[in-house]
Amino acid sequence: MKIEVKNSMHRVQCPECGYTMPIFFKESAECKGVMVACKGRNCHAFFEVKLKNGKQIK
Ligand SMILES: [Zn+2]
Repeated sequence: MKIEVKNSMHRVQCPECGYTMPIFFKESAECKGVMVACKGRNCHAFFEVKLKNGKQIK
């Protein structure tokens, strides 16, 4: 995947600290039940990535 493509994509954000995770999704993305551990400093949140119509539900 090229960098330009990455930059035009949305990224999953931690609902606790707002850290942008290295997880990318497209406008048409749908997702639930995917658990992710936040990599933010001093944040150890473990949250579910919920995407609907390409938008993250926090
Ligand atoms: Zn976090």
